[in-house]
Amino acid sequence: MNAVQDFHHRSIHDRDRFWKEQAASVFWETPFTKVLDDSRLPFAKWFVGGRTNLCYNAVDRWLDTRADEPALIWVSTEVDQEEIYTRRQLFDEVNAVAAMLQAQGVGRGDRVLIYMPMVPQAVFTMLACARLGAIHSVVFGGFASVNLAQRIDDASPKVIVCADAGSRGGKVTPYKPLLDKAISLSKHPPGRVIVVNRGLFEFEPVAGRDLDYAALRKQFDGAKVPVTWLESSEPSYVLYTSGTTGKPKGVQRDTGGYAVALASSMKHIFNGKPGDTYLCTSDIGWVVGHSYIVYGPLIGGQATILYEGTPIRPDGGILWSLVEKYKVQTMFSAPTAIRVLKKQDPGLLKKYDLSSLRALYMAGEPLDEPTAQWISEGLGKPIIDNYWQTETGWPILAGQPGIAPIPTKFGSPSFPVYGFDVRVIDEQTGQDLGPNKKGVVAIVPPLPPGAMSTIWNDDARFVETYFSSIPNRQVYSTFDWGLYDDDQYWFILGRTDDVINVAGHRLGTREIEESINSHPAVAECAVVGVADQLKGQVAVGFAVLKDAGLIDQPQAAMRLEGEIMKVVDEQLGAVARPARVRFVTTLPKTRSGKVLRRAIVAVCEGRDPGDLTTIEDPSALEQIKDSL
Ligand code: AMP
Repeated sequence: MNAVQDFHHRSIHDRDRFWKEQAASVFWETPFTKVLDDSRLPFAKWFVGGRTNLCYNAVDRWLDTRADEPALIWVSTEVDQEEIYTRRQLFDEVNAVAAMLQAQGVGRGDRVLIYMPMVPQAVFTMLACARLGAIHSVVFGGFASVNLAQRIDDASPKVIVCADAGSRGGKVTPYKPLLDKAISLSKHPPGRVIVVNRGLFEFEPVAGRDLDYAALRKQFDGAKVPVTWLESSEPSYVLYTSGTTGKPKGVQRDTGGYAVALASSMKHIFNGKPGDTYLCTSDIGWVVGHSYIVYGPLIGGQATILYEGTPIRPDGGILWSLVEKYKVQTMFSAPTAIRVLKKQDPGLLKKYDLSSLRALYMAGEPLDEPTAQWISEGLGKPIIDNYWQTETGWPILAGQPGIAPIPTKFGSPSFPVYGFDVRVIDEQTGQDLGPNKKGVVAIVPPLPPGAMSTIWNDDARFVETYFSSIPNRQVYSTFDWGLYDDDQYWFILGRTDDVINVAGHRLGTREIEESINSHPAVAECAVVGVADQLKGQVAVGFAVLKDAGLIDQPQAAMRLEGEIMKVVDEQLGAVARPARVRFVTTLPKTRSGKVLRRAIVAVCEGRDPGDLTTIEDPSALEQIKDSL
């Protein structure tokens, strides 16, 4: 057993003592009386009776020692701005925002929806919610009005904080009109909307509802808002994620367990220390952004860089220039970003002084071997692939150099992370599988501290969705295939369900299908994820039209494809837009009416579709092939 495996072993077999030690890295206003309440599995309550606060741990706690050091560094290559907030300045901003939210009646347990680009005000608002004990729900800025309306309805926020617009690749993307549309679609419109006006997009505030962030900021300048101490299991946030149904799931996170998981991961996985600088290129709308742009680094006493921009503007050296300028020790990115950089001038990797950098962490999608190899050689630094999900909040599998620098294998996110009792399970029998056998990656409950506590407002769905798919035992399914080899290195081999991963963005094909079906010309459709060199996967749609005659009219079909893409853009956002929509007269289905997705994917990828004995109409697959 190597040191990482030994650490993991202790976390499972000497659980209470192990987590009590880890919990010492967090400030507790009231100490917990019990490490774990597992009397209602799969629901788990960590650090029972302990009272703490994420904002206190991220901000206040470091004022004694690091008040004048940078805490939040905002760099925008979109609007050419940089702002540095010391821990004290961050404290001031967060207090002012907490006061402005409080003035709108926001308090413990109330929801605040955040629909914002990568601007510091978004981080202030998240931390202000945490300070008040309010529950934030950040919605990724790439999502459009239908997605947003669903989330508003589910979370019923008292207040929404948004911006007039974001910018991507130099192009302004308005947020406010999408939000207005979403609110008009929603059944639980918020009482107040606070708008950060960046002067990027002109809008008319809604009288009696919209408030100006800057005016409120001035009004509450110098305000001090006391921390609301939460019992460890009280929710800190809800973050929506896609699944196999059209309805997104509100992943609910606790407070104490999350603080402990993040604080300990900063040491053991990220091998960092207070005073370091951390650069994570995710978005605050994703779980990686929650954990490793905002809470993790700040709780760990580090400075975090919030970057608004693409990895190739003004050129493909921008991220490395940030590493040099801010002496970044830890960098976290996604394989897609690195694949994008691979197409840029390789000299850019050598142009900057990267001596401060200890390692590059990557997650969100499979890290293919050629990309891992390229960046590893180019940087000359360890590349740490880590595998996790919105649900788990922090890595399930990862290299853990803070425990011991065990060599990595390309294509493998190394070993199980302490706290995760992870297994490869036979989907038919529910039995554990041994080395080199492919099965479902599952976690034996309790899920560790920091992992989701339930689905917002829907305990039954939590159990049903995650703990009921494996026969004969109640384990958490990741819905990923995987295996581990003879050396106990793990490999992730793709999803078991209809969720696809486009450039690290997780999308439910079901949601895209619903959107395409809403076009009046469409009778039915199927959306699948097809392998793509750059993005990992792209969505491809196949639609059956009400008027089959249109298929033979190339001009009309092309126009319709454009229209359908526009519908998806407007409803779900550009991230969900299929790369192609093709028209067929019938979809390949089984005799019981199930769409044969795997066969469609195989045909799209030029592979053998395999066993087709259950297919209703073999010509349907021919049509798919011809339509490409
Ligand atoms: P999300 O919840 O959006 O973070 O998506 C989680 C899914 O992304 C996982 O279930 C995997 O399918 C995939 N994923 C995340 N990280 C990795 C990784 N390091 N290797 C392979 N797949 C990954």
